[in-house]
Amino acid sequence: MSLYPAARLDSARAACAAAGLDALLLSPGSDLRYLTGYPALSTERLTLLVLPVDGPATLIVPRLERPAAEASPVVDLPMAIVDHPDGADPYPLVAAAAPGARTVGLANRMWAEQVLALRAALPGATQRLAGEVLRDLRLRKSPAEIEALRRAGAAIDAVHARMAEWLRPGRTEAEVAADIAAAMRETGHETVDFTIVASGPNGASPHHHTSSRVIERGDPVVVDIGGSTADGYRSDCTRTYVAGGDAPPDFLAYYDALREAQLAGVAAVKPGVAASTVDAAGRDLLTAAGFGAEFLHRTGHGIGLDGHEEPYLVAGNDLPLEPGMAFSIEPGVYRAGRHGARIEDIVVCTDDGAQRLNTLPTDLVVLS
Ligand code: ZN
Ligand code: ZN
Repeated sequence: MSLYPAARLDSARAACAAAGLDALLLSPGSDLRYLTGYPALSTERLTLLVLPVDGPATLIVPRLERPAAEASPVVDLPMAIVDHPDGADPYPLVAAAAPGARTVGLANRMWAEQVLALRAALPGATQRLAGEVLRDLRLRKSPAEIEALRRAGAAIDAVHARMAEWLRPGRTEAEVAADIAAAMRETGHETVDFTIVASGPNGASPHHHTSSRVIERGDPVVVDIGGSTADGYRSDCTRTYVAGGDAPPDFLAYYDALREAQLAGVAAVKPGVAASTVDAAGRDLLTAAGFGAEFLHRTGHGIGLDGHEEPYLVAGNDLPLEPGMAFSIEPGVYRAGRHGARIEDIVVCTDDGAQRLNTLPTDLVVLS
């Protein structure tokens, strides 16, 4: 059960054929990694997977990165590695690897300078987004991918479980975040993507990062942390803590409703249910409790090789959920100038419901 099976290349070819694409051109990023397992560097030097519908795949790499490519899962895949030395124009290699391609799919997050260079290298070729065809493949995780997400979830849960060691009144948000980042690396993360520690009024800003604010006794503190493990899959989990002392009464007034909303979101997940229905499940509860206007964002986002990817659990998205889809359920309440709270777990849609990949309780944790 490989995380990066060779059959995925043929699945991508079949999807391209159905969509009228002659080749995929993938620069470093999650699409390239999805098809090859290669965690390539994004730099000014060209790295590009060229995957024609009806020809052999070629991975074009800078000569100095050939050893890294050969140390990756690429060596087990049916593709040639072609390198280019510094000082040589690599773009003729692209035309040679995709002869006659008239319509090409570019990695969605390719740099503009590469998009334009490819336009010049393949004159007359129509450029579209690779995401048109890779989206459907990446939406449904394989059992190996779900296991990789489960490992990432367990790694971040282990960090949240130690929060009492670091989070207490008198310390700054930044000090706590630094300890969290070190622990994330200890528990199996290769990258630390974000360490949100949002205390007191900062908790009312959903994407507050950290600051030099000193945490005060009784502050609610939103801690939203995530990164990637060595195989590239991401973690993302939020708990809201109270740092010593009693929480403000107007915080306690909404925390239980938020907890119920998050549980309702998880409970709403099953195959055939629209993504928007899961969003509504928690949102309607918060609205009925009088906090709907303070829930400022969508309920969740997909997760895999990217921290945010499809499916998005948001009003208007009628995509029916399917087994293998993995995403966050993360309602929040944000009271401007006062405090906020968010509870976030990653779940995977199963044959008959949802399985949580983050397994810590969601009860309010008061750290003394
Ligand atoms: Zn998060
Ligand atoms: Zn998230």
